[in-house]
Amino acid sequence: MEVPLLDLKAQYATIKDEVLAAVSEVLESQRCVGGPKVAELEEKIAAISECKFAVGVSSGTDAILNSLMSLDIGAGDEIITTPFTFFATVGCISRTGAKPVFVDIEPRTFNINPELIESAVTEKTKAIMPVHLYGQMADMDLIMEIANKHDLAVIEDAAQSITSTYKGRKAGGIGRAGCFSFFPSKNLGGIGDGGMIVTNDEQLYQRLFIMRNHGSKPKYYHRHIGGNFRLDPIQAAALLVKLPYLDQWSEARRRNAVYYDKKFSGTVVQTPYISPDCISIFNQYVIRVPRRDELMAHLRDNSVGCEVYYPIPAHLQECFSYLGYKEGDLPEAEQAAKEVLAIPIYSELTDEMKDYVADMILAFLS
Ligand SMILES: *Cc1c(COP(=O)(O)O)cnc(C)c1O
Repeated sequence: MEVPLLDLKAQYATIKDEVLAAVSEVLESQRCVGGPKVAELEEKIAAISECKFAVGVSSGTDAILNSLMSLDIGAGDEIITTPFTFFATVGCISRTGAKPVFVDIEPRTFNINPELIESAVTEKTKAIMPVHLYGQMADMDLIMEIANKHDLAVIEDAAQSITSTYKGRKAGGIGRAGCFSFFPSKNLGGIGDGGMIVTNDEQLYQRLFIMRNHGSKPKYYHRHIGGNFRLDPIQAAALLVKLPYLDQWSEARRRNAVYYDKKFSGTVVQTPYISPDCISIFNQYVIRVPRRDELMAHLRDNSVGCEVYYPIPAHLQECFSYLGYKEGDLPEAEQAAKEVLAIPIYSELTDEMKDYVADMILAFLS
């Protein structure tokens, strides 16, 4: 049996006619940049995130970059974040000229450990950027408390966690800005790149809006240096088709997670820990296992898709060597990088497929 890590064709088959009609509508209109689809998606994403404002952008990466630029973060500033994340989180901080400052993770959730944040705050700290990894939000109460005490902005990297909740509140809606990605492998994925920023801060919203179009306001007058961070209306059209299905797809992922949890209970496989404060959307189902690399090779040899998110924590990436971190500095993130493995969790998986994946893992490890 073949079980890929993600099967976008299976999802597309269920919505193909709707997507084609929506894309065709954009093409017929020839509103190829901006337009009503982008505005409609912004309104809807703001609503589901319980935020007042949303700005569609070209990717999750540009959502983060625009947020940092719009908060005037740059050279001389420090941003506290997690080393256990996708590259973009840290890449964007660095691209603004600011310095990423890493705080280790909480090993059960893989998210930034809020207990360690305050000792990393200096007079140069401007913001904290928690990442809601794998679909589960970081421990936001303590993060917001520290941010408020030291007057820091909180930018949520919610690229993997749209509609996820923490104590009933939505991802992206707690900090000053929340960043989403519509990369095809995210729970709400486009048919190409896309992203969005949500906020309740009207002034920040105005700035984000201007900055995504080169900082131009009025047209051809530039008080700020922005970029081309615009969301493609074809992406917005496809995303508007998918949005009504998002909750049922996430629900199916949660059911699959429960199924795996049962199969792995009492075994050497460490299943994901979801805090009682959180509802995860399971963008990934990540287990911790001994002999991870051998298991990964075995699964791939047997046509089971799996992946390591992420094999090298940011502080040990070659491009960030200038920051001066060394192995051993952030032990929990380093240990996680050696033990984690994401296995198929997408909504269209059948029970037979889940049994195949789980049984193969258990047979290999026993
Ligand atoms: C996907 C992702 C991003 C970047 O989003 P893109 O749309 O691929 O640019 C940023 N942060 C995290 C945690 C992500 O998973």
